[in-house]
Amino acid sequence: MRKAAIKPRAAPTVLYSHFVKDLTAKKVVAVRFEEGTGRILYELKEGAQQQQQGGAIADKENAAPQQKRTILQTKRIPDEKLMTRLEAAGVEFGSIAAPATSVLSKGALTAMALWIPLVPLYFMFRNMANKQGGGGNAKKARAPSNEKPVTFDDVAGVDAAKAELVELVEMLKSADKYKGVKNRLPTGCLLVGPPGTGKTLLAKAVAGEAGVPFFAVAASEFVELFVGRGAARVRELFAEARKASPAVVFIDELDAIGARRGAGLNEERDQTLNQMLVEMDGFNKPRGVLVLAATNRAEALDPALLRPGRLTRRVFVGPPDFAGRAQILAVHLRGVRTAESLAATCDAVARVTGGFTGAELANVVNEGVLLAARDDREVVTVDDLFSGAERTRNGVGVGQGAATVLSGLRKLMQGGDPREVLKEVRDGSDRNGGGPPSGGGGFGGGGGRNDPNDPSNISEANRRQGVGMSMPPT
Ligand code: ADP
Repeated sequence: MRKAAIKPRAAPTVLYSHFVKDLTAKKVVAVRFEEGTGRILYELKEGAQQQQQGGAIADKENAAPQQKRTILQTKRIPDEKLMTRLEAAGVEFGSIAAPATSVLSKGALTAMALWIPLVPLYFMFRNMANKQGGGGNAKKARAPSNEKPVTFDDVAGVDAAKAELVELVEMLKSADKYKGVKNRLPTGCLLVGPPGTGKTLLAKAVAGEAGVPFFAVAASEFVELFVGRGAARVRELFAEARKASPAVVFIDELDAIGARRGAGLNEERDQTLNQMLVEMDGFNKPRGVLVLAATNRAEALDPALLRPGRLTRRVFVGPPDFAGRAQILAVHLRGVRTAESLAATCDAVARVTGGFTGAELANVVNEGVLLAARDDREVVTVDDLFSGAERTRNGVGVGQGAATVLSGLRKLMQGGDPREVLKEVRDGSDRNGGGPPSGGGGFGGGGGRNDPNDPSNISEANRRQGVGMSMPPT
């Protein structure tokens, strides 16, 4: 057996028909089938190669005449008679292993063929993850440094909440003082209240007052497609904040990840929450990072979040009362020219915006200013702001009639003649296509609880319900 004689590399390639011819002509002494490649290597009898060279397709140099034995190779094709031919020719045949390189390259090709279709999928998922706010999340969270820092002066009508937070500002300002000392101040604070009441603004003001960087993120951004990704992003955010410490980390809509663990079997959310807890525990060692979180559903939060060392302090931020509304309006009317004194304007508008949040009041001012600008006026009137209130409550394009009623109400309060006021209100409503307000339908379709003929009946409470503030009947 001349195993060593067959060296695949050096063998010239011939057509399969030549191989069959050689077999039939009994010129072949040995045949080897290469495993897994379909290659057939065969050795000619000594002296047989002279006649064979004409049939070789390539590599004539390799089959030089001085070679005593000639090895040729061909590619196997389906041939049912092959075994019969081999046996008839009386050749020695068997299989040999393919060279390692060809196995490797074949393996690599197979792997590539399998993975190539997955490449677009990989990029698709990566894009989705990035869209969800992945990668550089902390950078995104950081407030732009060229923004004018918010201070407590910018937040009005929430004095109780401010008083609670002043202490935290002090803690941040003197972060060095607390280093190495067992910090007894709360390390995190939960701001509880409905949307638009100024929780984010308060958190910004804490950072602004202390002069430290502000990292804000909505917890819903941590709710990721892939398990573990949200947790990684929490870690990144806190690592970034620690680097910049002292700093404030503000987590809005905390209930998106802070809901009780195990509820709803959401493994990804649970992992994210666990990571958040781990990061907060880091604050037991004072590192000058203050966590402020906001939610409207404190009762839904995992109790672990509220344990000592975490969000220990709870501050309620509710819709402002009358005085609070006036103060908030004053903040947003800064730099705006008003027809009446600022105090009188704020007072009048605060009276008709019962139940409005700070965000809604900010919008009232915006709308009022826009209405004045539409009429090419630089001075904003109380009526503009009334219309702004109406548009804020009911959306743009409705409620001019109600604004007229409110304006009438104000005149009444200022001692105007009720009959004249009533006439004005009626005319105003007519002009605005609302028709005269009649006892039954009334403004806002309140079912006749108020007599719209007497604007003073429109109490603050029912204004909040939409009574007396909404569209005139069409
Ligand atoms: P929340 O975080 O409670 O949903 P925000 O702080 O985001 O509310 O408030 C949105 C906007 O409403 C603020 O940017 C600000 O213009 C205005 N605003 C809300 N509350 C107040 C407030 N107490 N004083 C002044 N402006 C306020």
